[in-house]
Amino acid sequence: MKAAVVHDFTAPLVIEDRPLPEPGPHQVRVRIEASGLCHTDIHAAHGDWPVQPSPPFVPGHEGVGIVEAAGDLVRHVRVGERVAIPWLADACGRCDQCVSGWETLCLRQHNSGYSVDGAYAQYALAHGDYVVPVPDGIDPMDAAPLSCAGVTTYKALKVSGARPGTRVLISGIGGLGHLALQYARICGAETIAVDVTDDKLALARDLGADHVIDARTQDVATEVQALGGAHAAIALAVSNTSFQAAYGALRRGGTLVLVALPAGGKLELPVFETVLNGTKVIGSIVGTREDLAEVFRLHALGRTRVIRETRRLEDVNACFDEVLSGKVSARLVFDLRG
Ligand code: NAD
Ligand code: ZN
Ligand code: ZN
Repeated sequence: MKAAVVHDFTAPLVIEDRPLPEPGPHQVRVRIEASGLCHTDIHAAHGDWPVQPSPPFVPGHEGVGIVEAAGDLVRHVRVGERVAIPWLADACGRCDQCVSGWETLCLRQHNSGYSVDGAYAQYALAHGDYVVPVPDGIDPMDAAPLSCAGVTTYKALKVSGARPGTRVLISGIGGLGHLALQYARICGAETIAVDVTDDKLALARDLGADHVIDARTQDVATEVQALGGAHAAIALAVSNTSFQAAYGALRRGGTLVLVALPAGGKLELPVFETVLNGTKVIGSIVGTREDLAEVFRLHALGRTRVIRETRRLEDVNACFDEVLSGKVSARLVFDLRG
């Protein structure tokens, strides 16, 4: 089978022919139809973060495809079913985090396309209990971006406290941000979208943002404070200055939700203002299997629109450059059918 493989953090990915993987007792083999390109895959391939993956590895954690073979102990999915392979490849299932609805914080988790091979391939292995069924009627090309960009921002909105009548800032209208904006609208919030490219600002308007701010020419904090300040700000741009700007845009009692993970990411907090203003700063990492099931249900109901372009896996290196140059409409998805 064909797979895109990272051999070195400083070299391009290599398209290789690999043997068809055989599932273990708890695993399924998924014939991948669609595989989204998340900015995290670029961080992974570049070794950007303090905990690095070990090359050689296959990136990809927005994998969607059909279960083709299942191990003897797989109980919850059947051969022929369409499933998603998200970032949470598996977790221990027993610790306090796992049993209290926070499996995404399990210390014994594995991550698709990072600590185990992911979905930049024609076939991928996955844990039968951790794949998430994709409901009928959802295009696999849409399901792929929902499996990380969707679930991550859906969860970020949940933990942000956004509700009808609040004002929510979405910083970065890329793969994650264009869905975050839609979830903020579903929450009933007044929405403010920030980006640094004309196309993304136009996309934000098209998706119904109430206010649009160009961070190249406008001071985000000043503009948002003039509106009364943000109850919540969701930081999705791969830029330290954008974190600072989002913090400065909060109203008293507001919540900054950190999601983007730039290499060496840092946010300097003035302790006095943070205390006096009762500001909350929280991190948010992907979402649970149940969160993803909810994301799929909302999409099946027609409440979200996935903006994406399809590409060939062979073009993976050019695709990374496209994302880094900010030229992508929102999400790139590798089409592995046929
Ligand atoms: P992306 O490249 O598609 O989107 C980033 C967007 O930010 C682009 O639209 C870009 O124009 C915009 N931008 C750049 N500089 C900006 C600035 N100064 N102000 C406002 N906008 C700016 O990336 P993505 O796939 O959406 O991922 C975003 C980040 O989120 C990455 O660091 C990724 O690793 C991280 N991520 C985190 C989680 C999590 O669970 N915490 C999950 C998925 C992705
Ligand atoms: Zn991702
Ligand atoms: Zn656990």
